[in-house]
Amino acid sequence: MKKFVYLFSEGSADKKSLLGGKGANLCEMKLLGLPVPDGFIVSTEACADFYKFGQKVREQTQEQIFKALAVIEKTMGKKFGEGELPLLVSVRSGSRASMPGMMDTVLNLGMCDGSCESLAKINPRFAYDSYRRFIQMFANVVMGLDRSKFEKIIDEIKAKNNIIYDSELNADDLKDILTKYKALYKTMAKEEFPQNPREQLMRAVSAVFKSWQNPRAVVYRRLHDIPSSWGTAVSIQAMVFGNIDQTCGTGVAFSRNPSSGENKLYGEYLLNAQGEDVVAGIRTPNPIEVLKEQSPKLFEELMSYARLLETRYKDMQDMEFTIERGKLYMLQTRNGKRTGAAALKIAVDMVEEGLKTEKEALLGIDPKQLDSVLHPQFEKKALSKYTPIASGLPASPGAACGKICFDVEKCKQMKAQKIKSILVRLETSPEDIEGMNASEGILTVRGGMTSHAAVVARGMGRACVVGCSDLRLDEENKQFEAGGKVYREGDDISIDGSTGHVYGAALPTVEAEVSGDFAIVLGWANKYRKLKVRANADTKADAETALRFGAEGIGLTRTEHMFFKKERIMAIREMIVSSTEQQRKAALDKILPYQREDFEQIFRVMNGKPVTIRLIDPPLHEFVPHEDMEIKELAKEMKLTYKSLKQTVQSLHEFNPMMGHRGCRLIVTFPEIAVMQTQAIIEAAVAAFKAGIAVHPEIMVPLVMERKEFRFVHDIIKKTADEVLGRNNVNIEYTVGTMIEVPRAALLADEIAKEAEFFSFGTNDLTQMTFGFSRDDIGKFIGDYYSNNILDFDPFAKIDFEGVGQLMTRACERGKKVRPNIELGICGEHGGDPASIKFCHTIGLHYVSCSPFRVPVAILAAAQAALSVK
Ligand code: PEP
Ligand code: MG
Repeated sequence: MKKFVYLFSEGSADKKSLLGGKGANLCEMKLLGLPVPDGFIVSTEACADFYKFGQKVREQTQEQIFKALAVIEKTMGKKFGEGELPLLVSVRSGSRASMPGMMDTVLNLGMCDGSCESLAKINPRFAYDSYRRFIQMFANVVMGLDRSKFEKIIDEIKAKNNIIYDSELNADDLKDILTKYKALYKTMAKEEFPQNPREQLMRAVSAVFKSWQNPRAVVYRRLHDIPSSWGTAVSIQAMVFGNIDQTCGTGVAFSRNPSSGENKLYGEYLLNAQGEDVVAGIRTPNPIEVLKEQSPKLFEELMSYARLLETRYKDMQDMEFTIERGKLYMLQTRNGKRTGAAALKIAVDMVEEGLKTEKEALLGIDPKQLDSVLHPQFEKKALSKYTPIASGLPASPGAACGKICFDVEKCKQMKAQKIKSILVRLETSPEDIEGMNASEGILTVRGGMTSHAAVVARGMGRACVVGCSDLRLDEENKQFEAGGKVYREGDDISIDGSTGHVYGAALPTVEAEVSGDFAIVLGWANKYRKLKVRANADTKADAETALRFGAEGIGLTRTEHMFFKKERIMAIREMIVSSTEQQRKAALDKILPYQREDFEQIFRVMNGKPVTIRLIDPPLHEFVPHEDMEIKELAKEMKLTYKSLKQTVQSLHEFNPMMGHRGCRLIVTFPEIAVMQTQAIIEAAVAAFKAGIAVHPEIMVPLVMERKEFRFVHDIIKKTADEVLGRNNVNIEYTVGTMIEVPRAALLADEIAKEAEFFSFGTNDLTQMTFGFSRDDIGKFIGDYYSNNILDFDPFAKIDFEGVGQLMTRACERGKKVRPNIELGICGEHGGDPASIKFCHTIGLHYVSCSPFRVPVAILAAAQAALSVK
């Protein structure tokens, strides 16, 4: 029989894939000689076995579990759920990657009427409190019962006795709660509360394995690129208690400040409490300095473990500890989640301290986290004009403003309507993850810096303020009161995740700067990366932002995005509905100066760096007037009758516009469009060149599927460009290439490369056409693909390596065979996604192009790819 269960003494930190991060790190702490309560781990392979055999913990696995349990009983000198001082255990999830709060945990397992009675002889308050906690967790985690019904019982007793904190409940209150809990359990679960500790244990292990597939864990995995095949391990560990009396406590400590990165032990702890009280944000904990005052010796001991673990892991540690009757126990350590700013500071400091090399430091930063550093900050001037309406703890930095939302659904709806929202809650729970992701920022009334909201927001790069008790929140009526004013759903607020301030208006923001630690890290990344990083930029302003963030060129200018201004769209519409070539040319003549001016501005900003300009691409229906008013206005402008124009508009209707008359197909029908656009590009280049600016235009043809098609457009471009250059008597080098965004083009890349000087993968369309999933409609059904385990991630966000990736790999190989110096890049959305960037590095692209704000993310990801791919 395969080994599925490992004692802590049998593992180490390098066995994360087998034992999960939590389990492997417990083993490592034991190895290092830290005070870790004994325990064992049911492996991730057991999890796979559990799912393989119809969600059952098989008998052989159970036998191994009970064997390991017997070893723990022996070393602890206690009996599981029995005896004067019974052994109780915690049952915790732990996958290879840390997924804070996403899966389930059961504490105090082994509590039953008998063990409660024994413990009550030592300390009745503690015994009843531990038992009622266990019932509540078991009911929720194992039986899926609503925990709020249990909370309600406590709230009622607290209200009756006029007390605020759980810690003020006395033994009689807790006994009363316990009786009510058991009754509630029986009503809701339709069974007596299970009294056999072994049965409790097996049911809890199953529940933890099942929690791997709970909806919040599935969403979290998708957001963090964690494959569902990894599974979770289960750590079973002897309980130590932070809630026996005032000589006990529990806390969370970070070896450095996770918000700012400052090299100082940072944390929170609660006297007479269990770990969940700190993490769930139910009580606002004390800063760790309070421990230093109360017990300098224990504080020193904790500090020494923090230092030891940092040196061992070469990273900032997030540790959980419990003090039981004056003795410190370490319950967990892991690399701590941190803000983007803290990630940069810690990396730079650790290299300076000699703890890490530059390469190790680069590999240790999550590129997606840089997003938060790139987020805007509030304008200093505006800040001085506004007084905060409330203040809380600065949990995750960045300035965010938006409309107040009190629930997840509303945040999601607003996001779909492109409206910015701020999620305001008493506290968040893991169920809120999608709403948190859809919002610009999160504001909670309760909780500390290690509460769920704080930890998750930091990981997501969302601005977050927690513990904002100045707000008087009425969740039911969807409003809160602050600074003497009532705020309702849809009102504007701003939160500053760096200071903890909340403002009752939408404050203006300024863009982020690349400086300090950020610039140092990007400097290291530039030394090691092979891929160049360009930006997708349609305007002068975009190009400026891109340059500021380190872009080395523009990989995609979508010319049609320049058409959306009022006076331009009229001209474009005229062009589209023209029925004669003459009419069309007249309309194009109106567009030419706009395009020329825009291109010249971009060339000037980029000052010699390559600029790839793509000819018109979108489905025509995006520009055709649909409203009667618009049709009338255009008819007047074009001196046509409303009726005839309406007919023309109707005739342009397409059944499948994404696969219709778009991209180079438009040029095949209307070559004069390519003539106008080429003229605008080259004339702009000539103007910039004459002003002493180096220019490198790359003219890109969209949606090509066939060599002859490309050749057709290429010849028009060449003829027009050479005419403009000849007329101006200047010699500017320009290239003509194609996007690879139709599967046929990828398959016939060798043919196309005979004509095209460069390829740029348009992975948005390539994904759409390879999957046959509409880019615009996938949102309606992708959820079903996740819930049925058909897809693990959104292929429009991360390249589908197996399918789309195969086409890309082949296209590169074939292109290079025909034209060894062909330039290869990517300009689809995937160009800013770290996992996709690694793939682009692997298949030998020369550059990635992404939105300006993602340029630094791409620079770091490119360096990581170069350092990690052999
Ligand atoms: C693409 O298809 O990947 C691309 C960059 O073009 P667009 O998104 O404009 O279709
Ligand atoms: Mg495209």
